Amino acid sequence: MDEHKIIQKYFSDVGSAYLAEQGVRVSVGDDAAIISNSSNKESIVSIDTSIKDVHFLSSMNATDIAYRSVAIALSDLAACGATPAWYTLALTMEDFDEEWLKDFSEGLRIISEEFKFPLIGGDTTKGSLSISVQVTGYCDPGKALTRKGSIEGDLVFISGFIGEASRGLRALQNDEDNTKEISSYLRPRARIDLGQRLIGIASSAIDVSDGLIKDLGHICSESNLGCEILIDDIPTSLTEPLTSGEINQGDDYEICFSANEKYLSEIEGIAEELKIPITAIGKMTKGSSVTVKDSQGIEVKIQDGYGHF
Ligand code: ADP
Ligand code: MG
Repeated sequence: MDEHKIIQKYFSDVGSAYLAEQGVRVSVGDDAAIISNSSNKESIVSIDTSIKDVHFLSSMNATDIAYRSVAIALSDLAACGATPAWYTLALTMEDFDEEWLKDFSEGLRIISEEFKFPLIGGDTTKGSLSISVQVTGYCDPGKALTRKGSIEGDLVFISGFIGEASRGLRALQNDEDNTKEISSYLRPRARIDLGQRLIGIASSAIDVSDGLIKDLGHICSESNLGCEILIDDIPTSLTEPLTSGEINQGDDYEICFSANEKYLSEIEGIAEELKIPITAIGKMTKGSSVTVKDSQGIEVKIQDGYGHF
């Protein structure tokens, strides 16, 4: 099958039911996609590359690989409070395997349906397996959440549970049967609903990809502040306590944000309504870095988060 037919068969109608409502007039199949601009919104754009054996295991099935590659890109839109509009996909694969492509395109279809956003273009090449997903969403002008904007005294919150996905990855690597943790690694939930609800409440936000403490460090540096986290307050669903490594392992794709204490009950209401746990884990302070303390107030050394280089 030639490249043109592959594209036609596996990528041309992913999420196509949502093209019109997103203003996409020309989609997969032409030289470029053509979209009419919604004049009263700001566009939010992000791209993430997933590379075999770095961002996913080659033993994973193609449906999970596709779902995960789009979900982690969407997570950046969630952290901004954006509404997803559409995405493009640059796929590099080792060979043409029809079964694999069918499963891969199924993963795209699942997440396109879940977030009601279409695949509108991309590129297909041969080489070692790599998937780049560029997502675009929108927000009311000036409203998107950023890493900058925390104020001294703001509370620091985290959605969901930390450490589950990294435990899942370890289980996959060791061939252990650990269903719940494995599924939180394979199918991260992009917190789009939560991000949208935090607009006007959160003073800053980031999604946790490289590690809770590492990513919180970006809020600190962008906001010119420090923060103090209580290790015992970091939420985990795991039966064994989190190790200092697991706290900062990443792959959680939860939203870490700061907000004034006056929003506490509103935040609790959002958590209840969306059925997503949201936990206060500390406070923004003067300074320039993240300090983690135990119940005795003694500083705990946390392992470094993920870094590519
Ligand atoms: P060109 O050579 O003009 O860049 P391509 O042959 O690369 O065009 O792509 C043809 C069409 O298929 C374009 O509309 C492109 O956006 C789309 N496309 C290619 N690969 C993918 C993919 N993996 N997913 C979605 N759309 C794709
Ligand atoms: Mg062209």
